[in-house]
Order: sequence, then structure tokens, then C-alpha cells
Amino acid sequence: VIDHGQPSRSVVTTCAYCGVGCSFEAELQGNRVVRMTPHKDGKANHGHSCVKGRFAWGYATHKDRVTRPMIRAAITDPWREVSWEEAIGHAASEFRRIQAKHGRGSVGGITSSRCTNEETFLVQKLIRAAFGNNNVDTCARVCHSPTGYGLKTTFGTSAGTQDFDSVNDADVIFVIGANPTDGHPVFASRMKRRLREGARLIVADPRRIDLVRTPHVAAEHHLQLRPGTNVALINALGHVVATEGLIDEAFVAERCEAADFAVWLDFIRRPEHAPEATEAVTGVQAAEVRAAARLYATGGRAAIYYGLGVTEHSQGSTMVMGMANLAMATGNLGRPGVGVNPLRGQNNVQGACDMGSFPHELSGYRHVSEDATRALFQAAWGVAIDAEPGLRIPNMLDAAIEGSFLGIYIQGEDIAQSDPNTKHVTAALAAMECVVVQDIFLNETAAYAHVFLPGASFLEKDGTFTNAERRISRVRRAVPPLAGKADWEVTIALAAALGYDMPYRHPSEIMDEIARLTPTFAGVSYERLDRLGSIQWPCNDKAPEGTPIMHVGGFSRGRGQFVVTEYVPTDERTGPRFPLLLTTGRILSQYNVGAQTRRTANSAWHAEDVLEIHPHDAEDRGIRDGDRVALASRAGETALIARISERMQPGVVYTTFHHPESGANVVTTDYSDWATNCPEYKVTAVEVRPTNRW
Ligand code: SF4
Repeated sequence: VIDHGQPSRSVVTTCAYCGVGCSFEAELQGNRVVRMTPHKDGKANHGHSCVKGRFAWGYATHKDRVTRPMIRAAITDPWREVSWEEAIGHAASEFRRIQAKHGRGSVGGITSSRCTNEETFLVQKLIRAAFGNNNVDTCARVCHSPTGYGLKTTFGTSAGTQDFDSVNDADVIFVIGANPTDGHPVFASRMKRRLREGARLIVADPRRIDLVRTPHVAAEHHLQLRPGTNVALINALGHVVATEGLIDEAFVAERCEAADFAVWLDFIRRPEHAPEATEAVTGVQAAEVRAAARLYATGGRAAIYYGLGVTEHSQGSTMVMGMANLAMATGNLGRPGVGVNPLRGQNNVQGACDMGSFPHELSGYRHVSEDATRALFQAAWGVAIDAEPGLRIPNMLDAAIEGSFLGIYIQGEDIAQSDPNTKHVTAALAAMECVVVQDIFLNETAAYAHVFLPGASFLEKDGTFTNAERRISRVRRAVPPLAGKADWEVTIALAAALGYDMPYRHPSEIMDEIARLTPTFAGVSYERLDRLGSIQWPCNDKAPEGTPIMHVGGFSRGRGQFVVTEYVPTDERTGPRFPLLLTTGRILSQYNVGAQTRRTANSAWHAEDVLEIHPHDAEDRGIRDGDRVALASRAGETALIARISERMQPGVVYTTFHHPESGANVVTTDYSDWATNCPEYKVTAVEVRPTNRW
């Protein structure tokens, strides 16, 4: 750590990494940030932080920052630095040229969970009002879109049910498909504190993650399931609850749809869901499943926390609804210490979804086909809005390859590294006539761009982020934008060049419009955020200071809806050629595609992605720890360093995707969630061999 001397002032802002949303003081000497200190009044972190938020902010001034707009005629040409006016004017005329030739729907855009609520709101507004279609999507497509679908269907709101403080009241903590010590470290510490106080822990994960056994904390049950069998497992847990008299009859009678519950009960009681019957599918012993179900149902207040190990499957949405069924059946909703809680990956993934970044929904999760919703936005924006949903990211990529989708505006996303089946993604990008990338670095996607618009880091702009507990927190500008414009200003300039006026002078005015158009944000303003520190939505006349716990006394949809969750095995199968299953994840010191953390001191700790493999699988293949190995699937092939690890179960390997050189997504496939197209990153049939024998 470099000692930069004493700061002369500080600005309170919000971490730009994970969905915990820690509050920090950016301490400055003049116009230079010299230290990030966790803010003691931050309601998400209570003065704590992890290594990323505290130390990995140096990327904001890294030499790789691009500070001048650039254009080029073809992706094989060198970049040419131009003025903002020329770059934005060129992008606008290209989008209009493509639309004139190929139709209104031939262009679209992608918003970013790394940008502020105000910025994502503006991008979807630009697509709808200036492009004239609903072809807007967000990176939540590839992470938590099943959360939105599943929780809206069952409870009525596409968000987690509890605040983080609720964990202090949990008697049983059930972690499913999440690795909080790496992915959400500050919340993991709070979870561990509660466990040290006596709460009991169940973990369902194919890997033996740290939480299964760390100092002073041990899971009573580790349900080490085979990747891809979540739904079979949740049904087995539901079966035990339903057949051993563990249902909270009073809760269900008072709070849930009776007819749906009856159908679910008939379904879940079927013998095929018994733990003894599902053991061969999940690989988890029946006795362990029965004991875990009994603990969850009878151990007191039981809270589910889950992550991408739930959502990134072909049955991601089904699994979210399976967890909701289990929580409703046992009455674990609507009070402190319980709930169904997604641990959101990126800093503003909740916010990006809230802001209407999906092709089928306007802000506040209202479907574009609803006449009253469209009428509200049409009156405010002075344009017609399509009643038909637009294209999702995978649809955009497929349409690009077919030749009907030719222009895209991508703000703060690196789909060439983060999205599955890299070969397919890059072929689609290469087929487009105008790719506009707005980012702080020339990322992997920028290799396919015709226009590059420099982005601003979180230290350079005003706005808000919304964390995993629906907490809206201020992002405050500590230093001026290196490239002269914050991202929201760039979107406004692009809209103007397309002939659509967005007359905002400050992000607070964008939030005022969001509040006017979005019932769950009706009471949110910068004045109220400054006064309260942060606000958890819904915030409106009924809840002027926000809503820490949802569904108290009734669900947002009225009565809770049980859903039949039939287990359907993924089409991705192992076989003689690809006998192992690959699952992917993250490590503490890196973040997502690593664009930020790789440009900080953190990169020294984990300089490359590694492949974790069980000792038996390694021995069978003659692989030693540290060997360079080839990892191949039906989609592609890459090379990694092998790490032999007892964390893995035989037959399953694991890696991360923080480094473009290892390119884990070269091997992941196009299989995706049936409801939302969230990619199945967690299940890929692969083979691994030492590179010298491949
Ligand atoms: Fe940032 Fe998440 Fe770490 Fe908090 S836990 S400092 S939000 S990365």
C-alpha cells in the first residue's frame, strides 16, 4: 500500500464492485484520490470493507484508460482519435443509415450493471425513444434474470425479500449456489458472525466452498450435488417438508393461493421426489437431504441466500421458484431472519433491472404490452413505445449472424469476454456494421467496435447504485471525468445527435423522472437520499423511508403463488469424449471479467485463472499440480494451469473467467434458462488433458 500522505477532504460514495454496495469515503488530496476508507455510517457495510473496495480502485487512473473518443471504418483499421462531436455524430448517422436500410429493429443496445441507475435508465430511454424499438437488454440477462422471473411469479416482486441486517435474526442459514466469502465478502462476514452466535448452516454447492468449514464455522449439512441437479434437490427438500408434516399450514392458508398450493402438494408428494429416489440424480445421500429439510423447516427462522449457482442453469428460473415454494411452505417469509435472498453479483445489477433495461419491461418491471404503462411513458417522453418486447442479448447475436441486426450501443459491458460461447459472440459482433462501445478501457468487445466512447469511472460521476437488498445509495463525484464527460452526458449527446432531446442538467433530475414514472421509486429523491443516507425500495407514500423487509402481512402480488417445478435434466450431457462437468465462479481478489481488478495491485495475487480438479480425475489423466492443461468442450478449447483440489467432487472441474487469456467462456455453451435465456455457465461437459499430450 502506498502512503499518499494526509487527505484534505473526502466524498462519501458507493463501491463499484459487488452487490453488497459498501459505502466508502473517497479521501482526496486536491483532485487526487489517495485512500478509500469504509464509511462507518454505511448501512450495507457498517464500516467494513473487503480488499477490492478498499484497495482495488487504482484502475481509475491506470495508464490504459482511454480518454479520447475514437472511430474507424473497419475493425481491421487502426483507431483514429476524434472529437466527441465527430464520434457521436458518426455513431448516430451510422445507426440511422442502418435503420433506413434494414428497418427500425435492426439496432439496439446493452446497459451495464456497473453504471448508475440514472445511466441505465437513460440508455433504455434512448433505445425506446430515439431508436424506436425495445431492443435493449442488460448484463443481468447472463446472471440474475431468473431471479427477476422467479420471484415476480411467486411473490410479485423481482427482488430479494430481506435487508442484510435480517441475517442477525436467522436461526438457520441456507446458502445455495453462492460463495459469499469470495463473491460478497462483507456480507459473508456478517453471516459468519451470526453463525458464531449459534445460527446453524446448510450449504448446497458442488464445491466444498470455504463456508462449509472455516475457523469457528462449519456447515451441519453440505449437500454436494452434481452440477445441473438443483431442481431435483429442491424438490427432494420440498418432498420431505410435505410428507413429514412440516408445512406451516396457517401461513399457507392465510398467505398463499389455495388452488396452486394443492396442485404443488400433489406434485411434490410424488415418490419420484423422495430423497431416496433423487439420490442417483443429485449425488446427495437421502439421509443428508432429509436432515437438511428438517433443519430448514423446524430450526426456527430460516433464511435462504443464493447466487449464480442457482440462476445460471437451463432451469434457473425453475430453481428460484422451487426455493420460493420451500420458503412459503415453511412460513419463512415476511419477518426478520427469513426470506429468499439473491446475492447479486455486480454493484448495480438490481438497479439495472429496476430501471427497465429488459426488452419486455419498463422501469419497475411493468410489461411493455400493458396499455396504461405505455401510455404513462409515451406521455412523458413524447414518443410511441412498441407493445412488442424487443430482442434479448442472445437474440441480438443470433440476428446479427442472420444479417438482420446490424448496429449496437454497448455501455460498460464486455460481452466478448463475459458471455458464453465466445466464438459465437465475436462472430456476431464481427457481422455488425456499427458497434459502439462505451467503456473506460479498450476491452475485448472493443476489438469489434467501430466507435469507442470513453467512459467515466465511479469516482468521476454522480448517480445511484442499488444493491442486493434493494438499497439505493448515492454515488458522488470525487474527481472530474478523465475524458471530460460522464456516461449519462454521453448518452444525452447521442440522443441529441439522433434528434431526441433529453434535457437533464444533473443526474438528480433523471432520478426525479424515474420517481415520477416508477411507483416503487415514487418517494426517492437525492434530497431524501442525502437525508437518510440510503433507501430500500419500495419507497413511496406508504413507505416514505423505504422497505427493509418485503411481503410483511401479504405478498406484493396478493397471495403467494406455488409453482410446479418439474426437474428436467439439461441437454448438456457428459459422454466418452467430454466426461467431466465444468462449473465456473469467482475469487475474492478479482471481479467479473477483471477489467478493473487486473489493473490494480490485486492482479499480483491471482495473475491467472486456474482449473481446479479432483485428485482422482487428475491422476487418471496424468495431471500434476501446476501443469498446463487443455480444457475442451463442444464449443471450443482453451488452456489453463491445473490445481489439484479436494474441494472438487470427482467428475467436476471448476474455473473462473477473470482473465481474457484463459477465456473460460470459449468453452461454455449456448444452453440457457428456458424462461429468460440466462446462460448455463454452471454446466459444461468437458475433457481435460495435459497440453503436451493433447
Ligand atoms: Fe465492494 Fe463488495 Fe467488497 Fe463491499 S464487499 S467493498 S461492495 S467488493
